[in-house]
Amino acid sequence: MKVYGQKTIEVVVDRCCDICGTSVMVVDSNGVKLEEVGELTANWGFGSKMDGITHHLDMCESCFQVALSALKGHRRCIVMFDDEQDLPDEKFGQQPVGG
Ligand SMILES: [Zn+2]
Repeated sequence: MKVYGQKTIEVVVDRCCDICGTSVMVVDSNGVKLEEVGELTANWGFGSKMDGITHHLDMCESCFQVALSALKGHRRCIVMFDDEQDLPDEKFGQQPVGG
């Protein structure tokens, strides 16, 4: 015998940037909702001083640009006096297409 009833389920209806709070959902010309989100994630383990801590940040495009440029600047400081390592260029962090 099947017993029918109403069940409430939770679905993701929006996703917001953890930095500025704006929605990362974009509606395209066909009315389809697309997620345009950058993520910063880490699950720290035994070898870390942050053992047991999980970090996850959702970022909109502009906040991701801020994070990327801060990391790029940090990278620049690290390799500035090291001739064997390249300074970060405009492709810093980008993966090859199809790779
Ligand atoms: Zn943002």
